[in-house]
Amino acid sequence: MDAQTDTRSETRTVNLILLGPPGAGKGTQARILMEERGLTQLSTGDMLRAAVAAGTDAGKAAKAVMEAGGLVSDEIVVAIVDDKLAEEKSGPGVIFDGFPRTAAQAESLDALLAKHGMQLDAVVSMEVDDDAMVGRVSGRYTCGGCGEGYHDAAKVPRTEGVCDKCGGSDFKRRADDNAETVRARLEAYHADTAPLIAHYAATGKLKTVDAMKDIDDVTAAIRAAI
Ligand code: ADP
Ligand code: AMP
Repeated sequence: MDAQTDTRSETRTVNLILLGPPGAGKGTQARILMEERGLTQLSTGDMLRAAVAAGTDAGKAAKAVMEAGGLVSDEIVVAIVDDKLAEEKSGPGVIFDGFPRTAAQAESLDALLAKHGMQLDAVVSMEVDDDAMVGRVSGRYTCGGCGEGYHDAAKVPRTEGVCDKCGGSDFKRRADDNAETVRARLEAYHADTAPLIAHYAATGKLKTVDAMKDIDDVTAAIRAAI
């Protein structure tokens, strides 16, 4: 393997945002970058689902909103990101997946990064067709053991029913991954999150990738962008 493709040797700290609607492939690409570069995936959706499962106050407040496909309050989300950044500030870098989702969250992120002595290196906007996102999200499932993501058509395990990564056979689908909720989540994306593309373009940190391509091609485009 030559130096160009051996991205595991990359040691520079990189903090980046993956920006895109539900189903764009943020989680899929974050896991690949995590493996390649040792970066930490900071998925507010995963953290909120953990809070719901644990029955914390934040989880109780978030549960119904998440089931309806709305956005959890900025206050709750910013607090969980703050806690996570306190743990990650000395690490090799963070991939923000699903955060920020509102202008207020973007503003809070700037303040949190300053508080923890971190900086933002890049914002990758993953461009997709909305119509395809319903199929992506409806076909999504993950390994309950290691969290590896799959799709009914686009990414199936090499051996049916067995996770490629951990060999587990317990797969899960998210309760909110149904066509109706996906539409609500896409509406929330366009109303509250899509304006962040212009916001980050103005900072000079925005990179755009065509996320309608195959998973490997999208990974290559992100690597080139960052
Ligand atoms: P997000 O985190 O942005 O909501 P995911 O990474 O979970 O999206 O991807 C949603 C679904 O689409 C998953 O089932 C995943 O396997 C699949 N997927 C991800 N990227 C692609 C792609 N480039 N082409 C086709 N399917 C994809
Ligand atoms: P995701 O896993 O990113 O698809 O998020 C699942 C759900 O969690 C969303 O539909 C929201 O209800 C909630 N959520 C995740 N991240 C955020 C955020 N940054 N702000 C508000 N709500 C969020």
